[in-house]
Order: sequence, then C-alpha cells, then structure tokens
Amino acid sequence: MGEKIFLSSPHMSDEGYEMEYIKEAFDTNWIAPLGENVNSFEKELAAKVGAKHAAALTSGTAAIHMALKAVGIGEGDIVFCQSLTFSATANPIIYQNATPVFIDSDYETWNMSPKALEKAFGKYPNVKAVIVVHLYGLSADIDKISEICKKHNVPLIEDAAESLGTYYKGKHTGTFGDYGVFSFNGNKIITTSGGGMLVSNNEEKIKKVRFWATQARDQARHYQHSEIGFNYRMSNVVAGIGRGQLKVLDKRVAKKRYIYEYYKRELSGLDGVDFMPVNEWNQPNCWLSCMMLSGAVRPLDVILALEKENIESRPIWKPMHMQPVFEKYDFISSEYEEVEDMTMQEVAATSENKVSKSQWLFENGVCLPSDTKMSDVELDRVCKIIKGLWNECSDSNKTRV
Ligand SMILES: *Cc1c(COP(=O)(O)O)cnc(C)c1O
Repeated sequence: MGEKIFLSSPHMSDEGYEMEYIKEAFDTNWIAPLGENVNSFEKELAAKVGAKHAAALTSGTAAIHMALKAVGIGEGDIVFCQSLTFSATANPIIYQNATPVFIDSDYETWNMSPKALEKAFGKYPNVKAVIVVHLYGLSADIDKISEICKKHNVPLIEDAAESLGTYYKGKHTGTFGDYGVFSFNGNKIITTSGGGMLVSNNEEKIKKVRFWATQARDQARHYQHSEIGFNYRMSNVVAGIGRGQLKVLDKRVAKKRYIYEYYKRELSGLDGVDFMPVNEWNQPNCWLSCMMLSGAVRPLDVILALEKENIESRPIWKPMHMQPVFEKYDFISSEYEEVEDMTMQEVAATSENKVSKSQWLFENGVCLPSDTKMSDVELDRVCKIIKGLWNECSDSNKTRV
C-alpha cells in the first residue's frame, strides 16, 4: 500500500515564514490574544481580499456568530441560510436563538439559487439576514444574490471559509456582502491549526466585534461589563502562522487549480462523470476537486476503492435540511425552476421523484483528494484507481450480456 494521501492537510511554507513570525511572538513574549501578529494578520488579510477592516478570531464559526450579532440577529429572527454546506454555517443561527430557513442550491454554481432565494423572500418577508456560502471555493452567483438582498434591504453575510483566493468577476469572495467570513481550520487552503477572520467595510462594527470577542470589557480600570462577552480572539502565536501562510496562498491556489485540471483531463471522459462547474465569471481556488457521478459507478464505490489504497475522499456536504438536528426548519427548494436546456443532472433529478438540487448534489458527488503536497505520481495513482472502477464496470456488463 502506498503512502497515505489526504483530502486536504496543512501545508506550511518551504521558506519557514510561519516559524519566523512565531519566533517573533516568543522573543517579544506576546503569547497572548493580543500583539503585533494579530494586528498585522488582520491588516494583511484585509489587504489581500480587498476589505477595509478585519477581526481575527478563534474560528470561522466564531466569525459567523459575530457577524450575526453585528447584524443584530436575536431571538426568533429568521435567517436564510444555504442548505448545501457544513453545519458550522448554520449552528451560529441557533446560538443566537434565531430560526434558520434553508435555501436550495442550483446546478450552475452549486451554491444558493437566486430563484429559490426570491421565493423565500416571498414566503418570509420579515427575514433579518441571509448567509450565502462559496462552497469548495466555487463562488455563488453573488451579483444576483446581493442584488436581491439589497432590493429587500436585508444584510448579506458571505461564508467564504472555503473560498480564500477565489474571485468573482475579479473581486474577492467575502467582500460583496456586509460581512465576509474566512476560516483557517486545519483542512482549509491555508491554516493556522484553527482560526477565523471576519471582514467588513464597517469599521465601527469590526471594533465592536473585537470588543465582544475579548469578553466585552468596558473601558475601566476594574472589570466592568455592560454586555455579554465571548472569548473568541485569535492568539498572537496562531496569527503568526497565519501571516506566514498568507504569503504562500497564491502558490496554494495555483496547485489546487492544477489538481482540479489534472483530474478533469484524466477523468472527465469516463461515462457519467461531470466536474464541478466553473463559470466564466468564477476564478475558483479549487479548495477541493469534486466530481458528479450519474452512471453505474456510485460515489461510495470511488470512496471505498480509494480508502482501500490509503487515500482519503469524501461525499459532498449533506444538506442542512436533511440533517436530523435541523429537520424541523423550513426548506425552500429550487426544484420547480423552469430550465430551458436540461443538463444531465437535471434529467436525473426529475426522473428521481424530484429530489432537491442540493440533495442530488449530495447523493451523486465525491470530493477527490486535493492535498497541495500531492505529486503527479500520486495524482496518477488516484486516477488509475478511479479509472479501474469503470473497467470493472464494463467487464461485469460484458459477462451479464
Ligand atoms: C470550515 C468551515 C466553516 C467553519 O470554520 P471553522 O474555522 O472550522 O470554525 C464554516 N463554513 C464552512 C463552509 C466551512 O467549510
């Protein structure tokens, strides 16, 4: 068996930038959730994505939580949330005692369907915020989504946890809405082992978030509190890793895109295989390379065949409206959209008793290993195993006939 190949694992710079910044933190004894690395990481990330202000936090989840608080979400408020995502997008809605309404995806972007969003505004005109996600580094159709939010005068939060390095029409994802969220968890395109960032052009709100995130301490010599606080501030050591990682972000994006192109070239000729959609306005970071299977070989066949060879792969995120913990909340599907020329997926979806699009993507998608440390030899190893499934498949068809 070959060496383990990961889905997406931490990849520190060859130059050792991260250690230099960590060493600086040690040398100056700033081993605290304060210090030069935190301030600089905020400035450097904001500059990289083109946002005016940023607050460095302990996780992307904390950043979503703080965005909801900054928008003023409280008990009983309705929040529209993309259904096809990781649970961390939706959990903070519950932390704020608010009510999520889940919104379906479309096949063109895999992200929030603008048509389903419009439908949701018709049903819930009192909604207080919208959370859109840029899944796997594919950007949502953010012009349409933000236009709809502006029309209804509702704030937009972008969960860009997976899309650092992704541009939509030349502008960085996470900077279109009122708030943008990034994550530096261990599996993300760059990592600090764990961490997150909230960006916004609203300086006052970002200052407020820093205040809430450091236990909401009022300006006083003694410990004085007039609001409930959180312990959400990023540490100065962790921020040092982030500063180093930010220097190699472009390299990581280039490698992720190379991996995506490699798979696409090698595998898209196979029967029933389709790759995640890259639109002309989308410059994705290709955080994970995902393919869709609508033929005889199923996602689980691929996952098990790779697992046997010590290679990690995953299904697509299971939509939130299908999760036991969120089942009781409403879901607005895009299944009845009128489509002129139906794609392969749509034909399959209509013939399968009209499952929602997010469900179809979940049931038919696989995330292929997309680790930036992979060599061509390893990429080839993965492709050979996958291609082998199609050979088996056609062999067994022959024997059946
Ligand atoms: C990773 C991730 C998050 C959460 O980020 P953490 O830093 O792990 O808390 C949120 N949303 C999406 C879509 C993610 O992939």
